[in-house]
Amino acid sequence: MTLPLRPDLVGIEPYGAPQLDVPVQLNTNENPYPPPERVIADVADAAAAATAAVNRYPDRDFTALRTDLAAYLAQESGAHELTAENIWAANGSNEVMLHVLQAYGGPGRRAMSFAPTYSMYPEYARDTFTEYIAGTRDEDFRLDADAALTEIARVRPAVVFLASPNNPTGTAMDLETIERIAAGTVDTGPDGAASIVLIDEAYAEFRREDTPTALSIRPRHPHLAVARTMSKAFAFAGARVGYLAAAPALIDALRVVRLPYHLSAITQAAARTALGHAQVLQASVAALRSARDQCVAWLRQEGFTVADSDANFVLFGTFPDRHAIWRDMVEEGVLIRETGPAGYLRVSIGTEAEMAAFRGALKEVTGR
Ligand code: PMP
Repeated sequence: MTLPLRPDLVGIEPYGAPQLDVPVQLNTNENPYPPPERVIADVADAAAAATAAVNRYPDRDFTALRTDLAAYLAQESGAHELTAENIWAANGSNEVMLHVLQAYGGPGRRAMSFAPTYSMYPEYARDTFTEYIAGTRDEDFRLDADAALTEIARVRPAVVFLASPNNPTGTAMDLETIERIAAGTVDTGPDGAASIVLIDEAYAEFRREDTPTALSIRPRHPHLAVARTMSKAFAFAGARVGYLAAAPALIDALRVVRLPYHLSAITQAAARTALGHAQVLQASVAALRSARDQCVAWLRQEGFTVADSDANFVLFGTFPDRHAIWRDMVEEGVLIRETGPAGYLRVSIGTEAEMAAFRGALKEVTGR
């Protein structure tokens, strides 16, 4: 007997970085600092209160959580115009972006991005029967607005994913580029519709002082959406909460395709409690930013090629055999990520002790 697997899924491995039991884990861009005791206790209390009513389905529209997320973006990025109607959320920004393609992609439609970039975009496309097209970036991983618009005009995508800061390179886009791409995509989608331009700001809180967020220009562009997550700066990866800010019409389309009650009562309660502790939870962000800058400087000093980073990870290289370096680092007890353009490796920013272990191991395996 054979099972009727979709032909395009035959032989495909599930996506995911190796989860190896190694002392120093610097491979999935998590925040290395667990939440403080007070936050743990409050989240546990909130989860207990939600459990008392867990015989009932949760609020399907999670309005209170959406209101809190809007307030957080007002505080963090000055986006004071946002209300609950501008916000969507799901189990990680991965699910949010899948919803975007469920609503706007589909058979006969295209999604595009610019490589090297986040490896899940083609997977959301595959899972929604949307054709995925990868455009290209400059040598230094930046996106040129004119070149991007030329490719977009040719491809006519329903959705364009632009990660800023980008994974795995760490590079951010400037506002002028985002503005020009938004202005140039009002009729580049299917049948003369706009292309949805989704700026994936999973790592936004780690941006350097003068790096902007696309939230500041979002109100002028009904087809511009900004995705964020609580998985990185918020140290809440295990809770699975991602979200998106966009015009209410765009959010309403996502409400059509979501499964009913997709955000559990416990998730909603935990996320709201964590947002109430935003300042405390993000206390580590400043430390991680400066550790990131130190890591970039150290790698350059050691003679590596290093991409500028506005995120909590750094892409560096180049190695004739990067797999050998990755494997030798694992032997030394340090797990980094083999990803991105040929010859490069990516390291997530850890605690001071973890970064010292990383530097020691890299010196050891490269014989420097
Ligand atoms: N976007 C980018 C660029 C990412 O790197 C990640 C996580 N690796 C995500 C989105 C998804 O994160 P989550 O689903 O945990 O919100």
